Amino acid sequence: MTIDCVFCRIIARESTADIVYEDADVLAFKDLYPKAPIHLLIVPKRHIESLAVLQPGDTDVVGRCLQAARVLGEQTGYAERGYRVSCNCGPEGGQIVYHLHFHFTAGRRR
Ligand code: AMP
Ligand code: ZN
Repeated sequence: MTIDCVFCRIIARESTADIVYEDADVLAFKDLYPKAPIHLLIVPKRHIESLAVLQPGDTDVVGRCLQAARVLGEQTGYAERGYRVSCNCGPEGGQIVYHLHFHFTAGRRR
């Protein structure tokens, strides 16, 4: 666990979050400040700062995050209608929390 990482604290259950999906490598929970009717965050349990520092050994867990997105599409009932999965990277990419995460948003046309 990386000290002072808000998502690591959620993963360690030292902070609360509304968890919607969990497997051995991935956790997903509701975004605290939702920007769409459904706004979930999908995170690898292992601390990775951002897409900018992805290593070859991280490929599997990134794929698992996207598999979790598929499951969440089914869980939320948006598999057919569709949803958006996005990832902000770095200061000019709008990244605020430096623990890799994928936003899952649904329920609004953009
Ligand atoms: P980003 O700008 O891509 O780094 O997005 C960070 C996201 O994390 C924002 O949408 C925040 O609303 C969300 N967020 C920050 N702190 C928490 C928290 N403790 N629990 C859930 N979501 C959070
Ligand atoms: Zn972290």
